[in-house]
Amino acid sequence: MKLQIVYHPHPALRWKSQEVSRIDTGLKDMVRQMFDLMYEAKGIGLAANQVALPYRLFVINPSGDPNDKDSEMVLLNPQIIRRKGSEEGEEGCLSLPEIFGPVTRATHIVVDAFDLDGNQFELEVEGLPARVIQHENDHLDGVLFPDRVAPEVRATLQPLLDDMEQQFRNAQQDGSMPDDVTLKSQLGELQKQRATG
Ligand code: ZN
Repeated sequence: MKLQIVYHPHPALRWKSQEVSRIDTGLKDMVRQMFDLMYEAKGIGLAANQVALPYRLFVINPSGDPNDKDSEMVLLNPQIIRRKGSEEGEEGCLSLPEIFGPVTRATHIVVDAFDLDGNQFELEVEGLPARVIQHENDHLDGVLFPDRVAPEVRATLQPLLDDMEQQFRNAQQDGSMPDDVTLKSQLGELQKQRATG
């Protein structure tokens, strides 16, 4: 299955994803493709929802350097179990190219997750990695960063979001993008293949 990054307002970006119950070579291949797509797009994190996969998993590399494999992390079925402090910082998103805005996030978090070998681990991070994890974790619940900016910022982002939506609807009109009903039924099918139900 060849993955690609999807853009607002693709329904996958509003999908509340299910936990992954099975790790196999298919899933590992998807994760490798996600890292490749993330680096290609010069990102530091990518959630499964952003490649139209309805699974609770994301990849990060806060260094953004494809050669820095030590900084790569895969978080499967993540749960943020502690949050401390709060800090505002500029965010962007590979599914919302060229849109940026300040988002307040916890400074310090503890996240519980599984790796690709099925081992559970706990991670305590602060600063940029904490921000990236909170941003990616939001994707798994169908939440995008503009949902979390102040109303006056949202108002300035809205025309950009509307432009993106118009492009997406045009692509649906000319048939280069399936309609929402088809896209949602594809997500439902993929979910059935891997979810605990
Ligand atoms: Zn994002």
